[in-house]
Amino acid sequence: MESQRSPLLEVKGNIELKRPLVKAHSRLPLPGSSFKRGRDQMEDVVEPEKKRTRGPGTASKFAASQPRAPVRTTVPPTQGQTAAPKLPKKTGLRCSTAVATVLKNQKPGPAAPAQKPGTAAAPPKLEGKKPSKRPAWDLKGQLCDLNAELKCCREKTRTLDQENQQLRDQLREAQQQATDLGAERRTLEGELSRVRAQAEQGQQELGNLSAHVLELEERLSTQESLVEELQKEQLGLQEERRGLATRLEEQEKRLQASEAALSGSQAEVASLRKETAAQVALLAERGERLHWLEMERRRLHNQLQELKGNIRVFCRVRPVLPGEPTPPPGFLLFPSGPGGPSDPSTHVSLFRSDERRGTLSGVPAAPTRYDFSFDRVFPPGSGQDEVFEEIAMLVQSALDGYPVCIFAYGQTGSGKTFTMEGGPGEDPQMEGLIPRALRHLFSVAQELSSQGWTYSFVASYVEIYNETVRDLLATGTRKGQGGDCEIRRVGPGSEELTVTNARYVPVSCEGEVEALLHLARQNRAVARTAQNERSSRSHSVFQLQISGEHAGRGLQCGAPLNLVDLAGSERLDPGLAFGPGERERLRETQAINSSLSTLGLVIMALSNKESHVPYRNSKLTYLLQNSLGGSAKMLMFVNISPLEENASESLNSLRFASKVNQCVIGTAQANRK
Ligand code: ADP
Ligand code: MG
Repeated sequence: MESQRSPLLEVKGNIELKRPLVKAHSRLPLPGSSFKRGRDQMEDVVEPEKKRTRGPGTASKFAASQPRAPVRTTVPPTQGQTAAPKLPKKTGLRCSTAVATVLKNQKPGPAAPAQKPGTAAAPPKLEGKKPSKRPAWDLKGQLCDLNAELKCCREKTRTLDQENQQLRDQLREAQQQATDLGAERRTLEGELSRVRAQAEQGQQELGNLSAHVLELEERLSTQESLVEELQKEQLGLQEERRGLATRLEEQEKRLQASEAALSGSQAEVASLRKETAAQVALLAERGERLHWLEMERRRLHNQLQELKGNIRVFCRVRPVLPGEPTPPPGFLLFPSGPGGPSDPSTHVSLFRSDERRGTLSGVPAAPTRYDFSFDRVFPPGSGQDEVFEEIAMLVQSALDGYPVCIFAYGQTGSGKTFTMEGGPGEDPQMEGLIPRALRHLFSVAQELSSQGWTYSFVASYVEIYNETVRDLLATGTRKGQGGDCEIRRVGPGSEELTVTNARYVPVSCEGEVEALLHLARQNRAVARTAQNERSSRSHSVFQLQISGEHAGRGLQCGAPLNLVDLAGSERLDPGLAFGPGERERLRETQAINSSLSTLGLVIMALSNKESHVPYRNSKLTYLLQNSLGGSAKMLMFVNISPLEENASESLNSLRFASKVNQCVIGTAQANRK
């Protein structure tokens, strides 16, 4: 353990121990000084040293019991050192102890034998065993003892001088050593301060390192928590991965199944494609066939219409209205056709008693029977639908490209307007030919669209009163006004006619047609306030321009459908025309009669294939010229009142209609562009 002591502490110890050594040295008797002192004095010299070294230390015991060893033996020369040995640092303590021991041993014992210098000090024998005291009388003995003692003291003195000399040498050495040690101490102190600085620096570094360690520990804990989280996340992800793997496996299985199904489907698709191609070819063939059939249908339809006659006349007798006098039974008869009662009626018989003949003979004359035959006769109970059924095929002809004209002829109150527009109210059963015809056209056009036909319809509605044209579809300030419309050709060289200032309204559904008819009724009502019963005294012409196109085949067809509610055909008795009102009425009637006659003449001229057809003789025939003759088809309703009082007018109407019915207008040609 001694060897592990730091050199610094060792030096410190040496320094502490050296102090008493120096002190002791100062008390040492100088060479040559008087040595004649008593034993007590000697002890005094040594005593302080003794006191200082006494105690548990071994030095006192040693001094008491052990013989004093010569100084040289206590300071053995170090290995390698001979003449002036410099004590090694570690021997400093031993050296000091040796000096102390020597000083202690300097206590002269009274009977200590003289020692030879350089020999080991013999134990003071006299000290323990003093010679018995000589009797007082033995002076010689005493002197002898004193001499011996003196001798011994001298010897001792010499020895001490030598020892002193040695000690001085040792002291010098010790001083030298102390100087060296001082230097060494300074060096060591420097080293100590450097070490301390280093230690401080180390401490600081340690502090820094501790802080760093704390920081690292903190980071470590963060990292650990992060790692923990990541581990958790990893677990979750692993779970998810397992789930995904399972799903992937399922998907793969499904994919395989799908692939198998796909390959099956592909084969199926291939066969279906082949089948489709065959179907497409078949479809094209069928389309072609369908088109051919459609054209054939049109041709046959037209042929049928021609066979039925390009001019047809239907007779319709309205029912007796509430409040009207019941006609005598048998006034009008509707004989059955050759097929019996199940056959549609085509004959009407009117019985009229000639009062003048009866009066002349004095006996009431038997009523005269007037038989008429028409393409169809509708007795009073016939419904609007029944009537329309008969004209539906004719309306169809307009879609096929043949101009169509449908007239309602008859005296006022015979049911012309009812037949054309319908009865009052919203009852669909009462709907007239105009709304029914348009609905039918829209429906057929819709069906034909699947065959590639596209149709458009433009409607106009005008009134011809007293040879002036008025727009019945006028709106706003023009409502109820008349006379500002003119019939003109669309362009120079064009056959097509138009009414200037009249509205031409595109229609595509029933609602729009309804709105137009409602507007026409309103316009007539406004006019009626201005001039009584003007509507009965005018012709109402509803025109629908039909345009059809088959884009795929580059086909076009167009024709007008005219639905004409003619002015009352009744004649005014010229004998009754006295006042200015009647004269005006007569003028109106003449105009009406003139236009109706012109219509008859035109039909006749067409029938007779005359070179001149007097279209221009009336506004009505002029407006309808493109829809009369040639490829046009005409249907005339002759409306008859069931009342006996109207028998004369009914006869006139029936006669006019019969004339028309006898006309045959040449083979119709479809108006194809
Ligand atoms: P016109 O137009 O020829 O002057 P209307 O069509 O105005 O005659 O008819 C006169 C009246 O007779 C109207 O009230 C009408 O409702 C009615 N009427 C005409 N024909 C029929 C019919 N077939 N069924 C029921 N009522 C009719
Ligand atoms: Mg009318």
